[in-house]
Amino acid sequence: MAKDPARRTGRWTTPADEALRWVRGTDLTALDPAGTPGWAGTRADGEKLLADRGDELADLQERLFAHGRSGGDRSVLLVLQGLDTSGKGGIVRHVVGMVDPQGVMHRGFGVPTQEERERGYLWRIRNALPRPGYVGVFDRSHHEQVLVVRVDKLEPEATWRRHYDELNAFEAEVAASGTEIVKVALMVSSDEQKKRLAKRLDRPDKHWKYNPSDIDVRLKLPEYLAAYQEMLDRTSTDVAPWYVVPADRKWYSRLAVTELLAGALRSLDLGWPPADFDVAAEKARLAAT
Ligand code: AMP
Ligand code: MG
Repeated sequence: MAKDPARRTGRWTTPADEALRWVRGTDLTALDPAGTPGWAGTRADGEKLLADRGDELADLQERLFAHGRSGGDRSVLLVLQGLDTSGKGGIVRHVVGMVDPQGVMHRGFGVPTQEERERGYLWRIRNALPRPGYVGVFDRSHHEQVLVVRVDKLEPEATWRRHYDELNAFEAEVAASGTEIVKVALMVSSDEQKKRLAKRLDRPDKHWKYNPSDIDVRLKLPEYLAAYQEMLDRTSTDVAPWYVVPADRKWYSRLAVTELLAGALRSLDLGWPPADFDVAAEKARLAAT
């Protein structure tokens, strides 16, 4: 047992939203993917706090759901971006998984289908936006339009460059309709990614997660970093800020995203909706049964 109390009790020395919020012009290549910005404590401390925060997160989400059921117009959208193995799926299971699934609208975005391509890249995104009362979760998103589309040259540069302004205009519209947007970029190091891919290849129960194209993406890491850098600089806005989360330590990224999501829900400041029936009268009716 550690004697130093600081080692036993982890805490945020800087709130996660402050420690992780992207500041335009920051050099992404200088970020330490194994870092734990704002957090002072061990892995065990982090895991303990995560479990505690789960109760609060579930309570906040239930308030949002209740709000939606009583005609409220608020919702939350968690956007997850990150290269393969950065832990997007783990965030969905371990963070979003702490709340009631009936209040979650989850959507993963892969290579667009023929129909999706014909309808324009925002069509499938709009269709997946959370309805009032819901927490929406995007595993990849409209931002792929300035990531894979740029790196793999799926569109001419003049075309994908226009998307920055389009993405910002779209998100301003979504925010104005009552959706609190939290965008998370999970940053995994090249070494850690290699380990995680090796594990996927070693374990038959992980083969389903592996895609031979993951190696091709690895070979283009510098291009992806440049694309991420510009995406962060160009699409971090007041209504839809990016939070850049180091992802080599999964316990940290999960704790950090939990804090960001809880913060977004807390900022809605939702109480429990008042009953739209006479509580005393209903108690009397029930007693009489
Ligand atoms: P995964 O997240 O591992 O299921 O992989 C999804 C794949 O879909 C990734 O290789 C993405 O690059 C690809 N993808 C997602 N959105 C787009 C898009 N808008 N255009 C082209 N490819 C995309
Ligand atoms: Mg993948």
